[in-house]
Amino acid sequence: MSDKNACWVLADHPDGMPTLETWRFEERDIPSPEDGQVLARSRWLSVDPYMRGRISKQANYAGGVKLGEVMHGGAVAEVLESRHPDWKPGDLIETIGFGWQTHAAVSGDGLTRVDPALGPEHAWLSYLGMPGLTAQIALDLIGKIQPGETVLVSAASGAVGQVVGQIAKIKGARAVAVASSQDKLDWCRELGFDEGINYRETDDLPGAVRAACPNGVDVFFDNTAGPIHDAAMQNLSIGARIIICGTISLAGQFDAPDMGERFMRKILVSRAVMQGFLIFDHQEKYDAARRDLSAWAAEGTLRFKTDILDGIEAMPQAFLNLLMSQNFGKQVVRVDE
Ligand code: NDP
Repeated sequence: MSDKNACWVLADHPDGMPTLETWRFEERDIPSPEDGQVLARSRWLSVDPYMRGRISKQANYAGGVKLGEVMHGGAVAEVLESRHPDWKPGDLIETIGFGWQTHAAVSGDGLTRVDPALGPEHAWLSYLGMPGLTAQIALDLIGKIQPGETVLVSAASGAVGQVVGQIAKIKGARAVAVASSQDKLDWCRELGFDEGINYRETDDLPGAVRAACPNGVDVFFDNTAGPIHDAAMQNLSIGARIIICGTISLAGQFDAPDMGERFMRKILVSRAVMQGFLIFDHQEKYDAARRDLSAWAAEGTLRFKTDILDGIEAMPQAFLNLLMSQNFGKQVVRVDE
């Protein structure tokens, strides 16, 4: 084991798409925990689209990463040393406040205890963590799926999308996937999705959505914005609910306005509701949502694909893979299992 903290720091605020040069690898001293903190070593690092917002120059819903600062990110980690009464060495924790690094001293308050009995360790970054909770809570609060309805989800084979489609099936709805390749759509079919649209293979995306959703889209779980959003908006059913969850298609034009078509009359005519959703606003719902997700996983109703890269060196590439549709399933990096 190294006696240094290997970490990635922000080297540049990218204007468009980030590159491998956006971060710089450094070895720093391992920090000492202060009163109320624990020192932990990462075992799994999470790779998430929200990180694009954190390296933007523009204000976001959370503070950005400063140049030279360790890149923000979540992890499953093992406690090495504790100066907090709730934690002892050997405990496994999950926190979004870890960073792209092997070691971190973090507050012992607000950490999630990882219970390996509920799923593999990395599940706490995927279906038992932020992506799964996002799918479950957003569908519950905004989607309000009714049996027989049609649920359309973009980035459907990804961390959030896989769970959205399977919850739609559990609720008795039709699930329609949008993804970038046949392999990904095949996986969605295996999970129980009824239809799939390869958004890269059609020159008539609104028509493809119409064909896959002949009765209209009742719930649109929008993970991407961009042309897929525009296609969904042209196919809303009366009373449709549109969940604005993510805007990953804008990763290369992050600070520029999203200049798509305008669909105000579609919203009026269909009396649709469009609502932005941010998982961090709903922490009081995490435990109940996690109970549902772990129960579905235990009975085999919820299945999940994870895309694992090895070694902390892989973090920038893993993140770029996510932005370029190169991940297949929840992207994580195994640091030290
Ligand atoms: P994914 O595992 O779905 O990975 C990202 C996927 O986005 C890629 O695999 C790719 O799928 C798709 N993608 C990338 N570029 C484009 C593009 N230009 N157009 C269309 N699709 C694209 O990530 P997550 O499941 O972790 O996140 C999905 C979305 O949910 C993100 O936008 C994220 O920001 C958001 N999110 C929001 C939360 C909230 O609280 N609001 C919480 C968690 C996530 P494909 O191969 O199909 O193109």
